[in-house]
Amino acid sequence: MKALVDLFIPRTCVVCGTRLDLGENSLCTGCLAEIPFTYFWSVAANPMADTYNALIQERTERGGFVEPYQFAAALFHYNHEEGYSKITQSLKYHADLRTGRLFARMLGRRLSGSPMYFDVDTVIPVPLHLRRLWKRGYNQAGIIASEIARETGARLETRILVRNKYTKSQTRLSHEEKSLNVRDAFVLRKARVRYPLPRHVLLVDDVFTTGETLFACYRVLREVFPPYVRISLATLAYAGER
Ligand SMILES: [Zn+2]
Repeated sequence: MKALVDLFIPRTCVVCGTRLDLGENSLCTGCLAEIPFTYFWSVAANPMADTYNALIQERTERGGFVEPYQFAAALFHYNHEEGYSKITQSLKYHADLRTGRLFARMLGRRLSGSPMYFDVDTVIPVPLHLRRLWKRGYNQAGIIASEIARETGARLETRILVRNKYTKSQTRLSHEEKSLNVRDAFVLRKARVRYPLPRHVLLVDDVFTTGETLFACYRVLREVFPPYVRISLATLAYAGER
């Protein structure tokens, strides 16, 4: 069947564009072998977690309480030059859910085998504004989150976090503008929070850049989740400082 489909629609590598062989999916063997993995899932203090924890330390009123270091991991470096950024772009802009799911499962397997993430019991995707959801037809973070939930055996929670502000595209904004753009973008539906509360939440998005969006979600979740509930991050790609 695949061979027949290939005759009409040649499948090509998402990263380099060469034509795929029958046994290859989304990526050619060469690009698959060269994925710039971050290995953040096995290192607690990595650049992504440092950025996230710095935001928590700088912007949170702690009232004497010092929050423990939170975990954060991405599967691969965004790596625009070598084309690996096209993995998340094809999921977000070209509805390539198949590729998105493939890499989300890859990430999920690494997280469930990690001593830092093995106890994740709830997975929450960064929500899209309803207007954007209608336009796009799916939430790319939701696609990734559902595969991670499946791989880790955690519960997928999509009802408590809502995006109530239709934010402009983040790509052309400065750091400060991004921060303002997402600061009050999310709200928590307290009535939909289920008890007992989770112990370890995993917030999921497609790409981590400055961490502003994920931090905005974190802040809203903290309104109901006390400090003993760990709020970790997972994304497919890491585009932050190295
Ligand atoms: Zn390739």
